[in-house]
Formats: sequence, C-alpha cells, structure tokens
Amino acid sequence: MNSIEQTNSKSILKSIFGYDSFRPNQEEVIDAILSGKDVFTSMPTGGGKSLCYQIPGIIFEGLTVVISPLIALMKDQVDEAIEKGISATFLNSSLSRKETVEIYSRLYRGEVKILYISPERLAIDGYIEKLHDFKVKFFAIDEAHCLSEWGHDFRPDYLFLAQLRNNFPSVPIAAFTATATKQVQKDIIRILSLENPFIVRASFNRKELYYKIENKNDPLSQIYSFINKRKGESGVVYRTSRKEVERTAEYLRQMGVRAIHYHAGLSKIERAKNQELFNIDEVNVIVATIAFGMGINKSNIRYVIHGDLPKSIEGYYQETGRAGRDGLDSSCLLLFSSGDIMKQNYFINQIENPKEKERSKENLNRIIRFATVNVCRRKQILEYFNEEFHGNCGNCDVCNDDTKKVDALIDAQKVLSAIARTNQSFGINYIIDVVWGANTEKIRQRNHDKLKTFGIGKDKDKKWWRAIINELISQEFIYQDTERFNVLRMSEEGKNVLFGKQNFFISKQTALSDKKSTAKVKADHKSLVVNEDLFIELKEVRTKLAHDKNVPPYIIFSDKSLVEMTAIQPKNDEEFLTVSGVGEKKLEAYGSYFLPTIQKFLQKNAD
Ligand code: ADP
Ligand code: ZN
Repeated sequence: MNSIEQTNSKSILKSIFGYDSFRPNQEEVIDAILSGKDVFTSMPTGGGKSLCYQIPGIIFEGLTVVISPLIALMKDQVDEAIEKGISATFLNSSLSRKETVEIYSRLYRGEVKILYISPERLAIDGYIEKLHDFKVKFFAIDEAHCLSEWGHDFRPDYLFLAQLRNNFPSVPIAAFTATATKQVQKDIIRILSLENPFIVRASFNRKELYYKIENKNDPLSQIYSFINKRKGESGVVYRTSRKEVERTAEYLRQMGVRAIHYHAGLSKIERAKNQELFNIDEVNVIVATIAFGMGINKSNIRYVIHGDLPKSIEGYYQETGRAGRDGLDSSCLLLFSSGDIMKQNYFINQIENPKEKERSKENLNRIIRFATVNVCRRKQILEYFNEEFHGNCGNCDVCNDDTKKVDALIDAQKVLSAIARTNQSFGINYIIDVVWGANTEKIRQRNHDKLKTFGIGKDKDKKWWRAIINELISQEFIYQDTERFNVLRMSEEGKNVLFGKQNFFISKQTALSDKKSTAKVKADHKSLVVNEDLFIELKEVRTKLAHDKNVPPYIIFSDKSLVEMTAIQPKNDEEFLTVSGVGEKKLEAYGSYFLPTIQKFLQKNAD
C-alpha cells in the first residue's frame, strides 16, 4: 500500500479540496465505491457529485475512468482537478493526434489517476478493449440520465456504455445524475447492469436559491432592473426564441450591461466563444435559449432569469439550478404572463404525436399552477419530484410575503365594466386604451369615447392596467377567446367581481410594480460579501492569475472562497488553509498572491 492509500477520504477532503466536512450523502457514496460496490446517485446540481468519484479516484491504486458527455466541459473539469494537484487528463475528439499519443504514453506509464472520456470516443471500435491495457479500478458515469430516453437529454452514444459490464465484470461502476425521476433511475440501473447497487437519492432542495415570480408587463425593463441591482455579478437570462434572445442582449448592452447572446442558430465556434467569454467573467450576462447550460461548470452564477414561461417544472428546476453551484445565495426570477400561456398552447397544438401533446399540456398546466397559486414555490418544486416538504421555506417570494395581497376590487371593476360595455369584443390593448382614455381613431369611430368607463383610469399608467388585466386572466375572471382574435371575455366568476359579489386581490408586488421599492430589493438580495472592497480586490487578483494560466477564474478559487477570505482575513499559511476551498496545492500556488493583498488592504484601512 502506498501512502496515498492509507490516507482516508476525510483527510483528502481537507488537504486536496480544502473542505472541512462532507455535504449530505457524499461520504456514504464514497464509502460504497471504495468497498467495491456499484452505485447509483441522484443529487441536484451543485450537490457535489464530482468529489464523490474524484476521492475514490485518488485513493484507488490504478486508473479511474470518468465518462462525461460534454467535450467543452471536460477540459474545465480536468483543469479544475489539476489545480488541486490531482493527476487527471482527458481523451476526446478535440485533441490532436500528437496530444493523444502523449496521453497514451502517460497512461502506459501509470501516471494518470483519473481519465475523462467522452462516450462517442468509447464507442469507437476496439476502444473498450484497449482500456484493458491499463489497470482500471473504477468507472464513473457522469450525467448518466443521457442513457435514458425518458431523460431530458438522451444521447444514443451513451447506450454503448451497456458494454462496460461485460468487458469489466469485476470493476465497480457508479452512475451520477441530477435527474430525479424514478423512471430514469430504473433505466440507468438496467442499461448499465448495475449489480445490487447502493442507491442514494439526495434531497433536491436547493436552499441557496431564492425563487421569485413577477407579472410580466415590460420584460426588457424588468430584466434590466433586476440585473442592475446585481452589478458585476454573473447571470443567465433565458428567453424562448432566438429573436428575443438577440433583442434582449442588445437592449442590455445599450443599457451598459456586459451581455452576450447564445442560441442554436449561432455557429459552433461562436457559441463556444460566447460561452467562454461568460465563463471567464469577460461578460456578466449571457442571454440564451435553453440550448445553453447543460452541465455548465461555472460555479459563480448568481442569478437566473426566465423572461418567458418555461415548458415544465423540470425544465425550470434544471435551468435555475445552474445558479449558486458554489452554495452561495443566488436568485431566480420568472416573469409570468398569460400571453405566454397562449403562445405555448399554440405550439402544443402543432404537436402531432398525441402522447407527446398530452404530456406537454400536462407540463404546461403544472408550471402555470406553480406560478399562479399562493403556495411556497420550493414546496411545489419538491412535490413535483415526489419529495415532501413542509413549506414556509423563508426563501421564496410567497414565504417572504412578497406576494402579500392588496385589495384591487375597484380597479378590476373598471376593467370589467369596459369589457362589458364594449360587448366583450376587444383585446387587451383596446381595453387598456378605453380605461385609460386614449384618444385613438379606432375608439372615436366606435363612439367608445362616449362610454362612462372611457378614461376612468386616467390616474394610473397603462402598465398598471395591463397588470390588472394579467391578474384577472390568471385568476380566471376573464379569458382570451382564442377562437375569436383573443378578445377578452368574462367568466361567470368575473361577473361576480363586476357586481361586487366577489373579492379581487392582487399581489403586493404587482401593486408596487411601478414604484421603485429599494427596501424590497435589499430584502431579496441578501448581502453576499462581508467586505465588498476587499472582495473586489481579491477578484482582481483572481482574474489576473486566471488570465496568466488561461483558465476560468472560478477554477482558481470559487466566489465562496473569496467571500470567506474577506471574512476570515487570513494572515498566514495556516489561517489561509482554513478558508473553504483552499487545499495544500492551492496554498502553495496562490497563497503568495492572496495573503499580501489581504494584508495590504488591512493596513490601508487600519489608519
Ligand atoms: P455537481 O457536479 O453535483 O453539480 P460539483 O461537484 O461541481 O457539483 O460541486 C459543486 C461545488 O461544490 C464545487 O465548487 C465543489 O468544489 C463544491 N463542493 C463539493 N463538495 C463540497 C464540500 N463537502 N464542502 C464544500 N464545498 C463542496
Ligand atoms: Zn417558500
């Protein structure tokens, strides 16, 4: 036994990763792998899956093979491991012949502990057999849901992994995924022929994420206003269409935000370039379709905005899950409008396969419910994954009272009256014009400027009236008649509101939507940084080092490590090692950059 085998996983956690304790389930998974068992693990994004296979990889005497689907990500993962002093490398189609030969000779010399391979590489004829040349001790399958047709990202190349078991009957296999469904779990275990596997299903609760839903009335300025309160932080804005993606990025740039766009219409090179700019903090915001993000390694994404309604809760969860992977508080904003429901319904109606159509409808209904009922958002998400949760999470708009209700009966009656007096024959914009008293040709032609309701809502702006109409639609007091040019019609319940037999409340947040409420902003954007000025200086040191080494900044240190440095303010190596994410290798490599910066800062601020 060499010395590394004698060290246990706990001390590796500290000396190599720089962490004091395991996250939930990590230790159990590592122990099971070390004892030679097959393992199935479902753990949310940011739960710390990589450490679960890297620590056994370090301990096993021989080679650990990690199968990972994304070539773009692989280099990042390997760079990150190397930074910690782990002997890791990768094989995929991005390498030149010469580089590949070089890696093989390192493998033959037994110099590599952890080898990352793409599934398509493994599927090449004779490749699996070739692995017999090396002392393979363990296979880890990352993003294992790619095996399952039920998963959201099926990849045919993954099916080839079914051959691992036959070829290596006695080598343990561990599968990892952030997908929670039981169907996917069953598929993975069956296809990989896992034998009596140790199964771990972690909680999917992402405590560090704050969920908030706003009515969408002016998306571009709502998105900008949210971002503007988070200057210098990294965030993702999801939009449904490529056109909206480009328009939103352009708008943000005009407003002075360093934003870039990303969608499947860009060339592969452009996409890689834009993702890289985001990765290295050259731009703060990436506006994207859902083509962006699967497996993104960047740990310091501080917020995710959905400018349009996502297709399902699963999608929403995976997309928002990209924020806060370092465990620091992060925010998720969803802009909700009834118009989006209609758009999605339109697309769903084009689907030919009846089963798929049904599923899409069901998904849509659930996300609508999620966004409109007054129930803890976290509770609803977890229940979607069949996980019980008490609610009252204290970290969503519902639980934080952002959705406190305000009586808006009178204004609702003004709108309903306008709808009734115009014979339920007009759409949203026209009704707003009537209530607001717009002097348009169309209104004059129809004599609607003579109505009692004309201009009755002049005292408030159009945005307000749009918000009231959106609320009336989402509470089903009115609906848009899709058969007849989307004219607004009143439901039976809506008539009760009109005649004062039924209450009408809107959220406090809608009521405040056009007043600037800074207090509210502070409440939902918890202060992340102990010393903002020092944090900025440490970030500069990090950026420079990252630039010199040609790796993304978060690979040098996570935001969390920098935040801790501002709080602990370490004075020597020993204290520096107490910072989360500082292991021996990083102390050696970077202590001499960060420690003096902290000291200088403290001296400067002492007098
Ligand atoms: P996943 O692959 O599950 O999405 P990662 O393995 O990338 O998550 O881990 C997310 C982040 O959490 C990484 O920055 C990782 O270093 C950190 N992390 C993992 N385990 C721990 C731990 N026990 N203590 C503190 N941080 C951890
Ligand atoms: Zn809640």
